[in-house]
Amino acid sequence: MHGPELSPSTIAVSVGRPPRTPGAPLNAPIAPATALVPGDGPDYTRQGNPAWEPFEAVLGALEGGRALAFASGMAATTAVLDLVPAGGIVVAPEHAYSGTLAQLHQRARRQLVDLRLVDITDTRGLLEAAEGAALVWLESPTNPMLDVADIEAITQETARRGTAVAVDNTFATPLRQKPLALGADFVVHSASKLIAGHSDALLGAVVTNSERGHRAVEARRTLMGGTPGALECWLATRGLRTLHVRLDRAEDNARELADRLKGLPGVTGVRYPGWGTIVSFQVEAGPDAAQRVTESSEVITYATSLGGVESTWERRRRHELEPRLVPEDLVRLSVGIEDVEDLWTDVQRALAAA
Ligand SMILES: *Cc1c(COP(=O)(O)O)cnc(C)c1O
Repeated sequence: MHGPELSPSTIAVSVGRPPRTPGAPLNAPIAPATALVPGDGPDYTRQGNPAWEPFEAVLGALEGGRALAFASGMAATTAVLDLVPAGGIVVAPEHAYSGTLAQLHQRARRQLVDLRLVDITDTRGLLEAAEGAALVWLESPTNPMLDVADIEAITQETARRGTAVAVDNTFATPLRQKPLALGADFVVHSASKLIAGHSDALLGAVVTNSERGHRAVEARRTLMGGTPGALECWLATRGLRTLHVRLDRAEDNARELADRLKGLPGVTGVRYPGWGTIVSFQVEAGPDAAQRVTESSEVITYATSLGGVESTWERRRRHELEPRLVPEDLVRLSVGIEDVEDLWTDVQRALAAA
């Protein structure tokens, strides 16, 4: 079954199913394997595995390109960064997912890339910094500051200069933002978050719409071995089947909580782009109080990661690697699909307790 004429929710439910032969299961099996029967395709799993295909088919159809599954979001990120020629200029957000920035800094220290960090909301400044760049790396919205880039305005200019653009689309998902349609060359996902959606699978993906890009990324996956597991692909495929429903519900909750947090005494700097499931805010009483707030909730789980059906929150700066531009008192709240009134009661209780 093919995607383009179908709406995203139908694609999410119906693409990547086995052929409808009598007696066959509706879902693709979980098929762990290393060696495959030799023929036209791969015969060793590091080169490819039918168990990855349903996940890649659904995600590719949703993003409007071809997806390649990876062992994690970081493995997917690494594969794209590896395409930058030695010493090439890379423009990236001044604050973004800590692991991505740590990896970029490490590459810069080893003179593998010439790294330029920018405010991604300033399109003109970004384009100036991107003069002669090999790659513009975007994350939009950013984790955890929730900055949003004007992807289309950026790619209109970079395309003329021959600069590649990659977008980490983890927070948006293809249901809220389709970077390839906006002119990007690579979409990167941590499928561990909203896509798998249940905090039980580590998985990543790269989606491209050029044959050259696809082949280059696939070659990196095969050589560096950042390949996914069969079970993780199966879990993420099941996650994709309900992504639209989970996202709508969590987003309604997030919008409501962001609105209410803006009026709550003791809370400042509420960040919410107006869509998506992540809300960040600062605790006026300082970092220690912010830490206590996150440890005082009963419904919301004090935990890292995000995008699960259950709401979680944490003070991001408790992590060593978190960029210093992220305020010490900032709490990142990943909103789940619980009852919004229960969540609000919990937020108020936790703030009062701290
Ligand atoms: C979690 C995350 C990553 C890293 O993904 P893993 O699956 O944990 O390797 C990359 N980008 C963003 C925006 C993330 O939130």
